Amino acid sequence: MMKKDDFMREAIAISIDNVKNGGGPFGAVIVKDNEIIARGANRVTASNDPTAHAEVSAIREAAKKLGTFNLSGCEIYTSCEPCPMCLGAIYWSRLDKIYYANNKVDAKNIGFDDSFIYDELELKPSERHLPSESLLRTEAIKAFEMWDKKADKIEY
Ligand SMILES: [Zn+2]
Repeated sequence: MMKKDDFMREAIAISIDNVKNGGGPFGAVIVKDNEIIARGANRVTASNDPTAHAEVSAIREAAKKLGTFNLSGCEIYTSCEPCPMCLGAIYWSRLDKIYYANNKVDAKNIGFDDSFIYDELELKPSERHLPSESLLRTEAIKAFEMWDKKADKIEY
Protein backbone atom coordinates (compact mmCIF):
# COMPACT_ATOMS: atom_id res chain seq x y z
CA MET A 1 0.00 0.00 0.00
CA MET A 2 1.57 3.24 -1.14
CA LYS A 3 1.54 6.30 1.05
CA LYS A 4 1.06 9.97 0.32
CA ASP A 5 4.78 10.66 0.44
CA ASP A 6 5.42 7.94 -2.12
CA PHE A 7 2.85 9.39 -4.51
CA MET A 8 4.40 12.82 -4.12
CA ARG A 9 7.88 11.38 -4.64
CA GLU A 10 6.65 9.99 -7.96
CA ALA A 11 5.35 13.43 -9.00
CA ILE A 12 8.70 14.95 -7.98
CA ALA A 13 10.63 12.25 -9.88
CA ILE A 14 8.59 13.08 -12.99
CA SER A 15 9.44 16.77 -12.56
CA ILE A 16 13.16 15.99 -12.28
CA ASP A 17 13.14 13.64 -15.29
CA ASN A 18 11.24 16.25 -17.25
CA VAL A 19 13.95 18.86 -16.73
CA LYS A 20 16.47 16.34 -18.04
CA ASN A 21 14.21 15.75 -21.06
CA GLY A 22 13.81 19.41 -22.01
CA GLY A 23 10.52 20.12 -20.23
CA GLY A 24 9.54 22.40 -17.38
CA PRO A 25 10.23 21.35 -13.77
CA PHE A 26 6.73 20.08 -13.05
CA GLY A 27 5.19 16.63 -12.57
CA ALA A 28 1.87 15.26 -11.36
CA VAL A 29 0.17 11.94 -10.66
CA ILE A 30 -3.47 11.04 -10.12
CA VAL A 31 -4.34 8.39 -7.57
CA LYS A 32 -7.48 6.28 -7.29
CA ASP A 33 -7.98 3.55 -4.69
CA ASN A 34 -4.40 3.97 -3.49
CA GLU A 35 -2.95 3.39 -6.94
CA ILE A 36 -1.39 5.75 -9.49
CA ILE A 37 -3.66 5.73 -12.55
CA ALA A 38 -2.12 8.63 -14.50
CA ARG A 39 1.07 10.62 -14.75
CA GLY A 40 1.71 14.01 -16.29
CA ALA A 41 4.71 16.15 -17.06
CA ASN A 42 4.94 19.73 -18.27
CA ARG A 43 5.35 19.56 -22.06
CA VAL A 44 4.60 23.19 -22.98
CA THR A 45 7.79 23.88 -24.91
CA ALA A 46 8.35 20.28 -26.04
CA SER A 47 4.93 20.03 -27.70
CA ASN A 48 4.24 23.72 -28.35
CA ASP A 49 1.12 23.43 -26.21
CA PRO A 50 0.63 26.24 -23.68
CA THR A 51 -1.97 24.14 -21.87
CA ALA A 52 0.28 21.09 -21.45
CA HIS A 53 0.94 21.65 -17.75
CA ALA A 54 1.65 18.56 -15.65
CA GLU A 55 -1.75 18.60 -13.93
CA VAL A 56 -3.74 19.05 -17.16
CA SER A 57 -1.70 16.29 -18.81
CA ALA A 58 -2.39 13.93 -15.89
CA ILE A 59 -6.11 14.81 -15.89
CA ARG A 60 -6.36 14.05 -19.61
CA GLU A 61 -4.67 10.69 -19.13
CA ALA A 62 -6.79 9.75 -16.09
CA ALA A 63 -10.06 10.69 -17.82
CA LYS A 64 -9.07 8.72 -20.90
CA LYS A 65 -8.08 5.71 -18.84
CA LEU A 66 -11.25 5.71 -16.73
CA GLY A 67 -13.50 6.65 -19.66
CA THR A 68 -15.16 9.51 -17.80
CA PHE A 69 -14.98 13.29 -17.50
CA ASN A 70 -15.69 13.06 -13.77
CA LEU A 71 -12.66 12.18 -11.68
CA SER A 72 -14.37 12.21 -8.30
CA GLY A 73 -12.86 9.52 -6.13
CA CYS A 74 -9.39 10.49 -7.35
CA GLU A 75 -6.71 12.74 -5.83
CA ILE A 76 -3.92 14.67 -7.54
CA TYR A 77 -0.35 14.96 -6.34
CA THR A 78 1.54 17.76 -8.07
CA SER A 79 5.13 18.78 -7.60
CA CYS A 80 4.04 22.45 -7.49
CA GLU A 81 0.98 24.34 -6.30
CA PRO A 82 -1.39 24.53 -9.31
CA CYS A 83 -1.60 27.64 -11.48
CA PRO A 84 -5.06 29.16 -12.07
CA MET A 85 -5.57 27.14 -15.27
CA CYS A 86 -4.77 23.84 -13.58
CA LEU A 87 -6.73 24.76 -10.48
CA GLY A 88 -9.74 25.38 -12.74
CA ALA A 89 -9.16 22.08 -14.54
CA ILE A 90 -8.95 20.28 -11.18
CA TYR A 91 -12.28 21.77 -10.11
CA TRP A 92 -13.91 20.88 -13.45
CA SER A 93 -12.67 17.31 -13.21
CA ARG A 94 -14.10 16.98 -9.68
CA LEU A 95 -10.92 15.64 -8.12
CA ASP A 96 -11.31 15.09 -4.37
CA LYS A 97 -8.07 16.62 -3.11
CA ILE A 98 -4.88 18.42 -4.15
CA TYR A 99 -1.49 17.65 -2.63
CA TYR A 100 1.37 19.92 -3.70
CA ALA A 101 5.06 20.14 -2.87
CA ASN A 102 6.67 23.37 -4.14
CA ASN A 103 4.50 26.44 -3.69
CA LYS A 104 3.65 29.50 -5.80
CA VAL A 105 6.51 31.53 -4.31
CA ASP A 106 9.03 28.78 -5.11
CA ALA A 107 7.76 28.84 -8.71
CA LYS A 108 7.92 32.62 -8.88
CA ASN A 109 11.52 32.52 -7.66
CA ILE A 110 12.58 30.53 -10.75
CA GLY A 111 10.59 32.59 -13.25
CA PHE A 112 7.18 30.88 -13.23
CA ASP A 113 5.02 33.69 -11.90
CA ASP A 114 1.28 33.14 -12.14
CA SER A 115 0.32 35.78 -9.58
CA PHE A 116 -0.58 38.19 -12.41
CA ILE A 117 -3.43 35.86 -13.41
CA TYR A 118 -4.76 35.73 -9.85
CA ASP A 119 -4.52 39.55 -9.79
CA GLU A 120 -6.43 39.82 -13.07
CA LEU A 121 -9.28 37.68 -11.69
CA GLU A 122 -9.93 40.33 -9.06
CA LEU A 123 -10.60 42.94 -11.76
CA LYS A 124 -13.62 43.54 -13.96
CA PRO A 125 -13.03 42.26 -17.52
CA SER A 126 -12.84 45.85 -18.80
CA GLU A 127 -10.06 46.65 -16.31
CA ARG A 128 -7.81 43.68 -17.08
CA HIS A 129 -4.54 43.88 -19.01
CA LEU A 130 -5.91 41.34 -21.49
CA PRO A 131 -8.66 43.16 -23.40
CA SER A 132 -11.99 41.36 -23.68
CA GLU A 133 -15.11 42.54 -25.46
CA SER A 134 -18.61 41.05 -25.68
CA LEU A 135 -20.01 40.47 -29.18
CA LEU A 136 -23.27 38.97 -30.62
CA ARG A 137 -24.75 37.78 -27.33
CA THR A 138 -28.27 37.72 -28.79
CA GLU A 139 -27.09 35.23 -31.45
CA ALA A 140 -24.93 33.12 -29.13
CA ILE A 141 -27.70 32.74 -26.56
CA LYS A 142 -29.54 30.40 -28.97
CA ALA A 143 -27.17 27.53 -28.11
CA PHE A 144 -27.83 28.15 -24.42
CA GLU A 145 -31.59 28.12 -24.97
CA MET A 146 -31.30 24.86 -26.93
CA TRP A 147 -29.22 23.33 -24.15
CA ASP A 148 -31.61 24.51 -21.47
CA LYS A 149 -34.55 22.80 -23.23
CA LYS A 150 -32.68 19.66 -24.26
CA ALA A 151 -34.19 16.65 -22.52
CA ASP A 152 -31.37 14.14 -23.03
CA LYS A 153 -28.36 16.30 -22.19
CA ILE A 154 -25.37 14.90 -20.30
CA GLU A 155 -24.84 17.39 -17.49
CA TYR A 156 -21.40 17.93 -16.04
ZN1 LIG B 1 -0.80 24.87 -14.52
